[in-house]
This record gives sequence, C-alpha cells and structure tokens, in this order.
Amino acid sequence: MPRRLEPGGRLVLASHNPGKLAEIADLVRPFAQDVVSSGAFGLPEPVEDAPDFVGNARIKALAAARATGLPALADDSGFCAGALDGRPGVHSARWAGPGKDFAAAMARVHREIGPVGDRAAWFIAALCLGWPDGHTETFVGRVDGIAIFPPRGTLGFGYDPMFVPTGATETFGEMEPEAKHAVSHRARAFAQLIAECLT
Ligand code: IMP
Repeated sequence: MPRRLEPGGRLVLASHNPGKLAEIADLVRPFAQDVVSSGAFGLPEPVEDAPDFVGNARIKALAAARATGLPALADDSGFCAGALDGRPGVHSARWAGPGKDFAAAMARVHREIGPVGDRAAWFIAALCLGWPDGHTETFVGRVDGIAIFPPRGTLGFGYDPMFVPTGATETFGEMEPEAKHAVSHRARAFAQLIAECLT
C-alpha cells in the first residue's frame, strides 16, 4: 500500500525552478495541502547526479524531507528528442547553461537533430514524495509530440515553445496553463500521485 499524505498537512515543494513551482502549486492546490517551497526554508539545491529522472527526483525529495522534517515533493523532468536518443533528457536544465538560456538550448536541439532528422520528441516527469524517515513514492508521466523550430509562444517555461503535443497544433508555449495541464507529463504523473497518495 502506498503511503498517503495527511489531509491538510504541510508539504514542502523541493524545487528552485519558478516555472515548475508554479505548475506544481496549481496541481496540489485542490487537495488543500499547506504548501511551502524549499526556497522558503533556505535549503541548498542538492547535487542531482543520478543517471535517470526517478533517481534525481528521489535525491531532491529526500534532501528536502530530511532537512525540514516534513514530507517533500520533488519533480525531475526533461525534454527528450528521438533523433538524439533521448537527449537532452536528464541534462535538459544543463543545456541552457548557467544563464538558463533556453533559446540557446532549443537552438542546440534543432541543430543536433539536423534539417532532415526525426522530429519525434517527448517530455518525462518523475515525481517523488519523500518522508523524513527515508520512505519514497515515485510516479512517472510522459507526453509525446514533435520538436519544432523556430520556437513559438511565450507561456510556460524551458523547452515549451519548441514542443507540439500529439493531436495539437499549438506549442506548450502557446497554450494556456489549463490546456498544458490537460495533457502534460507532469499532470500525468500527478494524476497517479493523487490517486495513490492524496485521495
Ligand atoms: P530539473 O528537473 O530541475 O533538472 O530540470 C528539468 C528541465 O527540463 C527544466 O529546466 C526544463 O528545461 C525542462 N523541462 C521540464 N519540464 C518541462 C516542461 O514542462 N516544459 C518545458 N521544459 C521542461
């Protein structure tokens, strides 16, 4: 049996990424958790050195849970291009460099795919709930689509402007948050988390 979160209890969001924090706060809000970000506790960002999304989400959730004594929710996610064997993947944030230059990261994806490369792309999100005693529950969501260039739209964050999910014509960067939440990798992982740990 998965471990559940106490209704109305405090939950730490273990992320320093403002785009992700906003999305996760939106997704958690209907469940009336008292949500506080790890930044508010002044927690440092742990080193994410696992080879996969699930491993990195665990590192972040457990670091925040142990430091605060509260359950913590972490997301590790990324953009994956089929022509690049899934890269940038766990290195998605790193491709933007220290200046978080996602225009440059998207241009690099486009360049590496090349003019005639396969445009298949997907996002993956691993969500991990961690408790101070070391217990974790992990959920993975994925959304498939294509990588386009040049990027379109100013909404969302990261690689959103270069991703059109299957069945849509707009990029994630052009969609209102509700439309992105209806299909996104993060929302899909979240739906599992809600079913197992919040209801
Ligand atoms: P990390 O999980 O903090 O290591 O970083 C994940 C990176 O993947 C983010 O900085 C974004 O570049 C990218 N990413 C993850 N989820 C999304 C999304 O929903 N839209 C756009 N980019 C995303």
